[in-house]
Amino acid sequence: MAGILFIISAPSGSGKSTLVSRLRSLVEGLEFSVSYTTRLPRGSEIDGREYHFTTRKTFEEMMAADDFLESAEVFGNYYGTAVSALEHARAAGRDLLLDIDVQGAVQVMQKLPEAVSIFILPPSPEVLERRLRHRSVAEHVTSEEVIARRLREAQKELDRISEYRYALVNDQLDKAVDELRAIVLTERGDAAGDRALAASCRTSSRSARLLGALASFDRQVVGSTP
Ligand code: 5GP
Repeated sequence: MAGILFIISAPSGSGKSTLVSRLRSLVEGLEFSVSYTTRLPRGSEIDGREYHFTTRKTFEEMMAADDFLESAEVFGNYYGTAVSALEHARAAGRDLLLDIDVQGAVQVMQKLPEAVSIFILPPSPEVLERRLRHRSVAEHVTSEEVIARRLREAQKELDRISEYRYALVNDQLDKAVDELRAIVLTERGDAAGDRALAASCRTSSRSARLLGALASFDRQVVGSTP
């Protein structure tokens, strides 16, 4: 059986990393694709675990050799998903989870329309700004400019939400984890999945929670949804 490809995207500061690690501890058989990046390791990050840290030259050579399923430049660094990660998961019949930005997600959706895409959004610009400030202190990047740029970037990413199959608002961590788990299990056809909960997270269901969060960013769901 071929595995399912899950794509998760979220603006920086949406709490995605915590959500994804909670999901992985709750759901079995979900392989995580370790991306390539030209950015430097942060904190306790280890080469080959969080990312394959690489030089710009190597990355560009890999791009030229068509080694990437998708790639994008995010905040001045390259990031990419190796084709081999997908091949590996497929050969093992396992589901693969990609934690990638909107530009990369759109490339994958075009190539593999059956991929299950999930967008995680922060509940409001105020909460996002608070999280970004908190994070910038942790990363020792206290520049107002970096925060302002990430906020602008988040607004831009929200414009592409209708291209995702699911959208969930990360206002309460436990709730968002339950929703993410429900989506994964339901897509797998696992009887343990809460189908109603997963359905409420469909972007096309335009839940009051989703519309409320988008409205706070002065955004709405536009166009058709998959
Ligand atoms: P960070 O540097 O904070 O780990 O990640 C920055 C952004 O790059 C996040 O939005 C993350 O999802 C995205 N990202 C990580 N790996 C990839 C990848 O392989 N491809 C793309 N397009 N984005 C990625």
